[in-house]
Amino acid sequence: MTGNKPQRSCLGCGATTDKGALLRFVLGPDGFLTPDLKGKLPGRGAYICPLRSCLGLAIKKKRFPASFKSPVSGIDQEKIVFAIRTIVTERVRGYLSLAAKAGEVFSGSDAVAGRLRGGKVGVLFIATDLSEESRKKFSAMAGHAGVELVAMFDKESLGTLIGKEHRGVVAVEPGGFIAPIKRELEIYRNFFDGEV
Ligand SMILES: [Zn+2]
Repeated sequence: MTGNKPQRSCLGCGATTDKGALLRFVLGPDGFLTPDLKGKLPGRGAYICPLRSCLGLAIKKKRFPASFKSPVSGIDQEKIVFAIRTIVTERVRGYLSLAAKAGEVFSGSDAVAGRLRGGKVGVLFIATDLSEESRKKFSAMAGHAGVELVAMFDKESLGTLIGKEHRGVVAVEPGGFIAPIKRELEIYRNFFDGEV
């Protein structure tokens, strides 16, 4: 328990924690279980830890229909995972784009390498289609600097997101965008077995 933050229990493992640290699900009008990553969808919410294992447990133990006091017509775990992947990716996209508009993003090998050495990077995005050589180089530099490395978008997407041509490496400065980006990445990693 921390302060007066609202608490909820995970339908999977049963642990009680801050509502904000859990994933919320609502029952859609069609009776399908809908992930509500923004926590804003109307209706009764059911919560789980942002872990694939807790989602699996909640489904296995039929906790969702019990919680909603209503039959759940669709619990397709793969669809939920796909939806979460899509939503989380969109949200990281949004944060990166906002950070770029706020002037808190820089790109290009030399600029990024310099900032990494100077300890001025919060999160480093490397393109999924970055060359093996560059990937190794930036992985090593990020590891040395203790900076989180993310391979979520290709060069074209990375460039478009920050309003530029293709970009192989994009760094976000330490600042207000780092915590929300990291929170999304944690959810993503937990669901997708560390593939980012
Ligand atoms: Zn749990």
